[in-house]
Amino acid sequence: MIPFNKPYFSGRELAYMEEVCHSDTMSGNGHFTKLCHGFFEKRYGFRKCLLTTSGTDALEMCAMLCELKPGDEVIVPSYTFVSSALAFLREGATVRFADSGRENPNITAETIAPLINDKTRVICVVHYAGVACDMDAVMALAEEHHLLVVEDAAHAIDAYYKGRPLGGIGHLAAFSFHETKNISSGEGGMLVVNDERFVRRSEILWEKGTNRAEFYRGMVNKYGWCDMGSSFLPSEFNAAYLWAQLEQIDDIQGKRLHIWQRYDEALLGRLRHGICVMPETPDYATNNAHMYYLLCPSLKERTALMNYLKNHGVQTTFHYLPLHSSTYYAPRHDGRALPECDRYGDCLVRLPLFYELTDSEIDEITALLLAY
Ligand SMILES: *Cc1c(COP(=O)(O)O)cnc(C)c1O
Repeated sequence: MIPFNKPYFSGRELAYMEEVCHSDTMSGNGHFTKLCHGFFEKRYGFRKCLLTTSGTDALEMCAMLCELKPGDEVIVPSYTFVSSALAFLREGATVRFADSGRENPNITAETIAPLINDKTRVICVVHYAGVACDMDAVMALAEEHHLLVVEDAAHAIDAYYKGRPLGGIGHLAAFSFHETKNISSGEGGMLVVNDERFVRRSEILWEKGTNRAEFYRGMVNKYGWCDMGSSFLPSEFNAAYLWAQLEQIDDIQGKRLHIWQRYDEALLGRLRHGICVMPETPDYATNNAHMYYLLCPSLKERTALMNYLKNHGVQTTFHYLPLHSSTYYAPRHDGRALPECDRYGDCLVRLPLFYELTDSEIDEITALLLAY
């Protein structure tokens, strides 16, 4: 069986974790955490980075920083992972789900704009498959209506919009290092703060509502409880594991792009039964090879294709069950139909894409698809 995903292992993870065992800091915010923060701040120019124990935690920090009140509204795609919406609901906000665009699964200024009213406070975009949303249009809407923009950049490491790194455009952003993402620490994530106004509070929320980070920098002579917060920071073991992966990011990205291109060269324009490869990357975006997906004409045909591949030893997955019609949210949804979201939910199928996938395995998969 060719699995859908296999976590990448650089080879340095255990050595770095052993270093942590022999050091005097195993809790968070030590040597490896600082190396990881520095990597992102330098390579992508992010104003402030804070590792978290998951992408979900980073989104929760974003939502806390937005200081939402009950009745405030947050616009979120329905075609996304639960956490993009859950983080804001936990803060007591009302979530309004925007539809995906016609071109690709991302939400667009056209699907966002009709949802904006006096209660709207935040737009949360998801750069699906690492393909940028049209951020100039989103930021222009946000500016016009005085809204905050949160980028759920869980898929979007090392991806760009008009030359600007994703995660560095909105006021706040969240990355994930879950094992299914390009760079992983098993479970892990990172908050990015791009707007100076949120920098100080982000550190306090990160450290259980205390100003401990300032204390360690010698900026205050004792630390105490000064705000809300939680224990969002990961241990040095997670950071050490992550650092081993970050050191290899160019190698990982190069390999993933190679796999992506090999799929595309074999499949583009050559599939039957109305099956298409993923849409072309817009001019303003780059491809970070987070995923390679196909679009089937219907749910029935997707199920048939996935069964065919499974019977021939290839594991695939689909994405996402639309949040607006989920068991939890359907009774709270405002009733609007979200047809594009439903279409992607029914028709999209992801092919295996992981570092160790070999050319001959890719060729086996594409041969199966071409014979279908
Ligand atoms: C993976 C993912 C998350 C959640 O990240 P975790 O690290 O698993 O908590 C959030 N949003 C999107 C779009 C994701 O794909």
